[in-house]
Amino acid sequence: MNAPQYEYRAGIGTDIHQLVEGRKLFLGGIEIPYPLGLLGHSDADAVLHALMDALLGAAGLGDIGTLFSDTDPQWKDADSRQLLRCVREQVRKQGWEVVNADVIVHAQQPKLTPFKGQMRRSIADLLDTDFGRINVKAKTGEGLGPVGTGQAIEATAIVLLCRQEKR
Ligand code: MG
Repeated sequence: MNAPQYEYRAGIGTDIHQLVEGRKLFLGGIEIPYPLGLLGHSDADAVLHALMDALLGAAGLGDIGTLFSDTDPQWKDADSRQLLRCVREQVRKQGWEVVNADVIVHAQQPKLTPFKGQMRRSIADLLDTDFGRINVKAKTGEGLGPVGTGQAIEATAIVLLCRQEKR
């Protein structure tokens, strides 16, 4: 019998949300203590949104804007962890497994270094994969642009998927 052949696909995702008063700050599926939060139709978790787009991109399944329209009242204040679980299931249905995911969170404030481990744990649990397959990096905006001036938090994610080739 021949050894199984595997196919691999990479996907990328980015997201940005405005920091405002009166909202809680969710990043990577965890709540981060900070006086400001991200503005959006859902809970505005930019990290999970970037990750969902990377997963959907790798699997060739479109993007989160198509799946969860920001004009649909069904997704108002939606928990992005639920949305990610839904994306994970759609990706799995096509036979894909996550090889790894690498995420960059761009934020001037708050300092995210103390939360990187928790974010990795949370993302690994949501994707039902190992902690070691998930990496989270935090960068400031060096005082430049909407991130650097503290008006927004941005996230970039890349995901690699693998599945056994159908014969
Ligand atoms: Mg978003």
